Amino acid sequence: MRKLPVFLVIDVSESVAGPLQQSITQGMKTIVSGLRSDPQALESVHMSVIVFAGKAQVLVSMVELANFYLPSLPVGGGTSVNAALTTLMNEIDTHVVKGSNTQRSDWKPMVFLITDGVPTDRSTDAIDRWKAEYASKTTLVSVSIGGGADHSLLRQLSDDIVVLANATDDTLVKFFQWISQSVSIQSNAIANRKSTGGVDLTKNLPTGAVSLAKDEVGGVPQSVDDRLAIFVARCQRTESPYLMRFERQGPAGDNARYALRQTLPLNDDYFELCDENATGSASISTSQLEGFPGCPHCGTHIAMVECTCRKMHCIDGPGMATCPWCGNSQEYVAAKKGSARDFSRGLG
Ligand SMILES: [Zn+2]
Ligand SMILES: [Zn+2]
Repeated sequence: MRKLPVFLVIDVSESVAGPLQQSITQGMKTIVSGLRSDPQALESVHMSVIVFAGKAQVLVSMVELANFYLPSLPVGGGTSVNAALTTLMNEIDTHVVKGSNTQRSDWKPMVFLITDGVPTDRSTDAIDRWKAEYASKTTLVSVSIGGGADHSLLRQLSDDIVVLANATDDTLVKFFQWISQSVSIQSNAIANRKSTGGVDLTKNLPTGAVSLAKDEVGGVPQSVDDRLAIFVARCQRTESPYLMRFERQGPAGDNARYALRQTLPLNDDYFELCDENATGSASISTSQLEGFPGCPHCGTHIAMVECTCRKMHCIDGPGMATCPWCGNSQEYVAAKKGSARDFSRGLG
């Protein structure tokens, strides 16, 4: 039985965390339930889910549709398309059957690479390898959520870049239905022997909010995603990590202002998806931040104090406290009015 391999490669960096990630999770469930109702798809489609931030991870190893189960998506720091591609190529090598004298090959794999991100690494090794060895043997569609992704980089992977300019629930639903239909069309084409290769997926795009990137440049690679100021701290009481997300108000620059949008509890799996070699030198002054986050684990109102180890945690109030990162105890005093200091920020 020749299978139709479908890879969903999903950006789970900090910038996606929160409501957008919930919509993506919902969308993936839409894909699976849509395909399960199609007998041809159910027979041939095998799905795999790869997630990436600063590192990549196989979240669901290639499995037939009937046995597919979607675990909750993790969150990580950074956006490495290289890490994503490297993991994708390994999974293709492992799970996609190549043709030989004794066996027929699988059908041409379909890859949907979904990112909102501006890549935070610049290496092109994996991209070069992809172009040389994999690009012609797969159908890859890149999806730029919010239109801020680096299109020049995505264009190196394939010509097909779909832009979701406004990632509202409604457009996301339509978009995931489109993925589901595209896979359906492909599996039926295979069954009817109309096609052995890829179909032109972008022909059937839903009209409206979804568009094809032609000359749109999108974002540019940078070491930090400067649309956001993201901080990761640990709760002093539970030691669990959490994320504080500030969004830029107005233009970028040294004095750009960021307003608090969200605090989000994280699990320790956050650290498994961070690139520990990424530079942690990016910082931002507290004078650029508006809003005071509380800790989502223990509920204290002071969630942004920095230990001498340069990591952040929450405290109950002024006085002695032990850093959940390094274990050092020190005394915290209330900041003087008008004083500012620099905090290390996440890569986004
Ligand atoms: Zn706390
Ligand atoms: Zn510390």
